[in-house]
Amino acid sequence: MEQKKPKVLLLATGGTIAGKGAPGKTTNYRPGEISVEELIETVPGLGDLAEIKSVQFANVASIALTHQDWLNLANLINSEFSADPELRGVVVTHGTDVLEETAYFLHLSIKDIRPVVVVGSMRPATALSADGPLNLLNAVKIAVSQEAEGKGVLVALNDEIHCARDVTKGNANKVETFQSPYCGPLGFVKGDNIHFYHQPSRLHTYQTVFDTSGLKDLPRVDLAYSHIMADGAAIEAYVERGAKGIVIAAAGAGAVTREMSQAMEKATQAGVVILLGTRCGAGLVGPARQEMLKRGYITADNLNPQKARVLLALALAHTDNLETIQDWFNNC
Ligand code: ASP
Repeated sequence: MEQKKPKVLLLATGGTIAGKGAPGKTTNYRPGEISVEELIETVPGLGDLAEIKSVQFANVASIALTHQDWLNLANLINSEFSADPELRGVVVTHGTDVLEETAYFLHLSIKDIRPVVVVGSMRPATALSADGPLNLLNAVKIAVSQEAEGKGVLVALNDEIHCARDVTKGNANKVETFQSPYCGPLGFVKGDNIHFYHQPSRLHTYQTVFDTSGLKDLPRVDLAYSHIMADGAAIEAYVERGAKGIVIAAAGAGAVTREMSQAMEKATQAGVVILLGTRCGAGLVGPARQEMLKRGYITADNLNPQKARVLLALALAHTDNLETIQDWFNNC
């Protein structure tokens, strides 16, 4: 008797993995051009691995996605999981540019133990040696594997499996772009086998308190970069635009100019939360001491600024208590 295939939900959002260009070329292509059905057809054997239910969630370059899309995506995945106990896992195809942000948002918002794997590619579907088909095949292998359960949202590219919290796009062009600085990948795909070597140690998915089901939007959180001669202009503009939080990509473990610091101080007096992170690419800032929290400052731990922005926006959608938010930064 033929064995029942595991069920996988494939949500396509666009990106280079769905990109089209001149035959064979790796540059000058248009992301988000081919449909989810065409994407499936580029992967021989995908249908043998799993029964795939596909949804064209969007078909855009990832930078065009919005907070609304994140909320809709998280709520869709949560409702599909709760409606179908036989669903084994979810795969999300995504542009690589801001993949780490969507993946981290889902890592904090999905309320299920089953795997969610976010996948992209650096070369369009029409390129010579396109990396998308193998990345997608690997993502489905991971999504149906028992070992991937309970590890939160995973990012699969280039035969590596990364934790959504740790991973970042580290190179604008190369196929081996995704890295988890100082943490390393959780595992690897080798042929038909999935090999895990590490576990995420921070709270994720079903372990967090975050509930996106009733959220209409996320509060505005902006990002300001520290450098010599940076004045407070960006921070003042963000406050004027209604920012509820501002992430500072500080030099080193928290350095900013006197002018930037004065603007930060003024922002906290206006009720804006200032989150200190680092522009270094690795390393941690914090945890914030009591007197910092009282003044309206919190710290990012080792989250990079764009990931810290995700957690701060989600946190501010749930509370304005800075001790609670700092606690989430220390534990998520
Ligand atoms: N521009 C693409 C995006 O949608 C880049 C990629 O997928 O690699 O993020």
